Amino acid sequence: MTCREFAEFLDAWLAGLLPAEQAGAFRRHLAVCPHCVNYLDGYRRTVDAVEQLRAAETVPEEVPADLVRAILASRKES
Ligand SMILES: [Zn+2]
Repeated sequence: MTCREFAEFLDAWLAGLLPAEQAGAFRRHLAVCPHCVNYLDGYRRTVDAVEQLRAAETVPEEVPADLVRAILASRKES
């Protein structure tokens, strides 16, 4: 698995949707690639931030994660 594939599979992996064979390749890549360990760590922090935003401001569940991220990014700038 390449770092690019890792990033593409990350959403599915976190959601528990990755087939066993790909999940195994995903974990093997994580074991040998510090870059992707950092990437996963940052990704999880972003997800946590979105969850906190939802809890604090009752953002509807159906708001796409990409939109929430865009909102968070724009708030950082202001
Ligand atoms: Zn990697």
